[in-house]
Amino acid sequence: MSDDETRTIIALSGGKDSSALAIYMREPNRWQKHLGKTDADPREPLEDVEFVFCDTGTELEETYEYLDQLERYLGKPIERLQADSPPGKTPFDHYLELYGGFLPSANMRWCTRNLKIKPFEHHIGDDPVINYVGIRADEDREGYISTKDNITTVFPFREDGLVKEDIYRILDDSGMGRPDYYDWRSRSGCYFCFFQRKSEWVGLKENHPELYEKAKEYEKFDEDTGERFTWDDTESLEELESPERIEEIKENAQDRRERLKQEMSDRSLMDVFFEDEVREAEDDSRGCNICHL
Ligand code: SF4
Repeated sequence: MSDDETRTIIALSGGKDSSALAIYMREPNRWQKHLGKTDADPREPLEDVEFVFCDTGTELEETYEYLDQLERYLGKPIERLQADSPPGKTPFDHYLELYGGFLPSANMRWCTRNLKIKPFEHHIGDDPVINYVGIRADEDREGYISTKDNITTVFPFREDGLVKEDIYRILDDSGMGRPDYYDWRSRSGCYFCFFQRKSEWVGLKENHPELYEKAKEYEKFDEDTGERFTWDDTESLEELESPERIEEIKENAQDRRERLKQEMSDRSLMDVFFEDEVREAEDDSRGCNICHL
């Protein structure tokens, strides 16, 4: 804790923006110079900062590995926070039971509230806290902003004018690199996250077939009422995995990328970032900010 008893916290999601923020805030002035942010106000490095990660127990292995790598890079522990759950049960499974087996969805997002936000707020308690959040200057979203009076939220990337290209440069030039799942998925978070695009479900099946099977097991069909409880309203994972459907999803994704590339071709993006940029542009408006930053 700092002299005035105010704690400083960065909540990591295992994604690129929050990871880059942790790296940036160690040496903000050096990074500002490196990135050519000459208009940004000088910043004090965050020395006495707490790093936390809210673990649902159902994240991708790559996320845990990336956090371990980041921990080594930062030279400080990343505290893993978890909602309470009985032994042998992941927090997600415990809450799924409490919610009567109803899978979370964009409209009923009990998972974020119980598995991410509550453990974070519990960890903070009533202490005065400055919470650093990695929303970028090129984003139009709010991220996690607590309504608790004792939490002040700060957005260094937004204030200093850092955009997505800068984030990639921080990750690449620091030597941290990007999380491995970025090859097939654009966001951190649970392996079965309902915010995934269909092509990401295909990516899950191809990269982690066992997790795809586990995700399938969560889906239920009530033979009597005909009700379906699936991650995606429009089709079940069993329907999605037929070879014809996978082929179609891949073709659609490819078409969409070509179209987006065309639409974005006027922008001066570095080629090496292009694929990621396109992948993210496909669903910038969706998703869960505390899970996916
Ligand atoms: S990553 Fe998705 S499924 Fe997991 S807690 Fe966040 S919104 Fe819910």
